[in-house]
Amino acid sequence: MSKFKLAMIVALCAAVVVPAFTRTPQAPASSSAASASDPKLPDPKLPDPKLVEDLVYANRILSDQGVVDAFGHVSARDDKDPNRFLLARSVAPALVTKADILEFDRNGEPIDARGRAVYLERFIHAAIYRARPDVKAIVHSHSPAVIPFGVTGTILRPIYHMSAFLGAGAPVFEIRNGAGMTNMMITDNKLGDALAKSLGDGTVVLMRGHGSVAVGDSILQVVHRAIYTEVNARLQAEAARLGPINFLTPEEAAKADAQTDSKASISRPWELWKSRIGKIE
Ligand SMILES: [Zn+2]
Repeated sequence: MSKFKLAMIVALCAAVVVPAFTRTPQAPASSSAASASDPKLPDPKLPDPKLVEDLVYANRILSDQGVVDAFGHVSARDDKDPNRFLLARSVAPALVTKADILEFDRNGEPIDARGRAVYLERFIHAAIYRARPDVKAIVHSHSPAVIPFGVTGTILRPIYHMSAFLGAGAPVFEIRNGAGMTNMMITDNKLGDALAKSLGDGTVVLMRGHGSVAVGDSILQVVHRAIYTEVNARLQAEAARLGPINFLTPEEAAKADAQTDSKASISRPWELWKSRIGKIE
């Protein structure tokens, strides 16, 4: 077969599954068959289409807000199968569409990549979903204002109520401990597990000389946290130039977090950020 014909077939296959998720054969044959024959009926075993849509918006918003650039990614735990998660194929977040969203198993392997390249650092997501059943969404970024806090020993702490989720301060993951000299990236489950251990039961962990990870119980919450982690880092560096900083105490942080982390408080900026993106495919 000529290369051109093969490319056409691959392109056509990719075009007809938008987005394509697969379920293992233990799914009841009747429900799969019904939805396959009637496209109007959503397959109850597949991820909620709203979850996929929110994940695409999350990619675009994080890029628009300067948290991710060509690199960085955001995932969501599959609402129908907690042992799986959704993550885009390897592409810049600003360009992600619904057709780019793939499913991964608990070990970070794609269920069906359909020949597409996947993110090298998907093990960040797999390891944290394994370690933290409460986590439903994860952002990994190299957001620039946060980087200095990973390399100086200055702790990233909540400077105002909007970043109260930082609590007593974000821990720093030191990849040299246990792994020695590396290329700094989380490219397997062993490194992922070590990172998840550093995160502990926290909301944000910094990665020395690399970036950071934020976790949340929803896509909206994790996007909120990733954005305000970056804002807090900027403000903390600015305040440090003026003098000693009077941070929120852990008690104030807990009280403020209960307010700023409420569904209503998280929905308002989400709608604003979404309005800047407009329609998505
Ligand atoms: Zn990275």
